[in-house]
Amino acid sequence: MAIHLLADEVASQIAAGEVVERPASVVKELLENALDAGASQVSIQIEGAGKRLIEVADNGCGIPADELALAVARHATSKLTDAGDLFRIRTLGFRGEALASIGSVAVLTLTSLAAGAGAQTGARLRVEGGRTGFVEPSGGPNGTVIRVEDLFYNVPARLKFLKQDSTERQQIETLVARYALAYPAVRIRLVVDGRLSLQTDGSGDRRGILAGIYGLEIARQMLEVLADEDDLRLTGFISPTSLTRSNRKEITFFVNGRWVTDVALTTALLQAYHTLLMVGRYPMAALFLELPPEEVDVNVHPAKAEVRFRSPDRMFSGVQRAVRRALLAYTPIPQVYAPGTWGSPSSGHEIDPAWTLAHPQMAGHVTEAEPHAEAGLELPALPEGDQPPLPVGKLPLLRPIGQVGATYLVAEGPDGLYLIDQHAAHERVLFERLLAQREKHIPAQALLEPAVIQLAPQSAELLAGQIPILERLGFQVEPFGPGAFLVRAIPALILGSDPAAAVRVVVEDFEEDETPLQEEIEARIIARVCKRAAVKAGHVLDPEEQRALLRDLEACQSPRTCPHGRPTMIHLSVDLLERQFGRKGAR
Ligand code: ADP
Ligand code: MG
Repeated sequence: MAIHLLADEVASQIAAGEVVERPASVVKELLENALDAGASQVSIQIEGAGKRLIEVADNGCGIPADELALAVARHATSKLTDAGDLFRIRTLGFRGEALASIGSVAVLTLTSLAAGAGAQTGARLRVEGGRTGFVEPSGGPNGTVIRVEDLFYNVPARLKFLKQDSTERQQIETLVARYALAYPAVRIRLVVDGRLSLQTDGSGDRRGILAGIYGLEIARQMLEVLADEDDLRLTGFISPTSLTRSNRKEITFFVNGRWVTDVALTTALLQAYHTLLMVGRYPMAALFLELPPEEVDVNVHPAKAEVRFRSPDRMFSGVQRAVRRALLAYTPIPQVYAPGTWGSPSSGHEIDPAWTLAHPQMAGHVTEAEPHAEAGLELPALPEGDQPPLPVGKLPLLRPIGQVGATYLVAEGPDGLYLIDQHAAHERVLFERLLAQREKHIPAQALLEPAVIQLAPQSAELLAGQIPILERLGFQVEPFGPGAFLVRAIPALILGSDPAAAVRVVVEDFEEDETPLQEEIEARIIARVCKRAAVKAGHVLDPEEQRALLRDLEACQSPRTCPHGRPTMIHLSVDLLERQFGRKGAR
């Protein structure tokens, strides 16, 4: 075939593919246009998962009749004139592509009345599969209504790539919810197949919107983030450590009002939660970064879902610090110490969010994570507003008293009584030691007799893929026939535990839709191995072993939770005991 220029329609369809991937992308572009137009009210209607109809009506500045035809032309925009403007962008759109793209793969109808058009009526324009009609006069209120019907009717291949209706609908709902949170001062309404799906009141109250999206209980628990550093401003919400998800889908970042996906920002967030969350659990977050436009390159991809920062490191540490601070700041009620024989707090008590945050029942929270029977013992409920003081910081020196039920250690500290779950505590000790050793090199201990493990084909494949990681962690594993592996060495630290079982946990229930970062895989594996190797409940410990476990726990960074986020101990403070025995605080 000789080289020839593509027909306009074909070229448009090709280009449209980059902007309009699915119904949710149409909603995004139209919603962004409405926001750019300064609308204080946007109403969105969806039918047939957005394939039959997407209609976005706003009360923004509108499009003058004589500009309507331009609005649907490719590379026509009112938001940018020269390339230099690209670094001064304060609008969400700037490429002048969305309407043209949508018009080339659907039936698009624009009806608009520009503000200040006076008695003049508005105008309407229809574009069908890339063919633009004539501008006709039309009535209507100030603002713009854009209807998109029969999306992809002329690109059947695209239609086939769409997911089930429920998934496409969900994507739209999620998208609108995110924007509603990002623009609390705009009244946003989403109606799906005639049913009201979301509505905000434009009052600017983000927590109210959170409640609309996630329900009251979650909205109440979310922690507020607020940081101002030079010209970087960060606001939004993060979940306390008691509120987690099994994936990263509820982590959202907006940069200068634009929803972006950014691996580095997500990593910064996750690092702020480091060791505070159960391995394999993720926080929820909606964070809004604002910085001077010249600090961000928004022109990375046609869908504008990615950005580049001029100083990525600064963004990273800014997010990490602000989130960490929000987590730490969440310290309900300072410690109250009773005078007397129990002594006063030793200095060097820092706030340990692991404790303050990971104890839902003490902070008056409802956990969303599965309740763990191991955490069992419930503290007696105190009247609202009079919760027991929360112990903070690393552990004080503990005096072992004994073991109960071959499961818990009892110890006395300067500030009360401690009940320690021996299994969880040992898990924590092993976990931190392995992590510390990993910094350099985890010593491996060769087994006198290599162990053989046999796995189902799928697990075998998983394990084969993890061998290099295992090696870094002190395991020496090699393939040994179909589905079989030979374990030659294990980390010296867990010597004495069953080597085959330790390796087996590596391939247990890895979530398939996740591709965790290398770092996370390792932490997850370490946590599992430790769980496996830790001393079990029901195991009698002699006094020397009890003492050793307490000493080791005292040396931990986050002694109060196991690597999976469950408490290692319950602290009955002097204050609590005195209240419970009616020695104090009678009201
Ligand atoms: P971009 O948003 O990148 O400029 P679009 O194709 O999305 O490109 O829109 C083209 C132009 O049409 C915009 O620059 C704007 O002037 C106008 N426009 C689109 N939607 C609206 C709206 N809802 N209200 C007012 N003007 C709009
Ligand atoms: Mg646009």
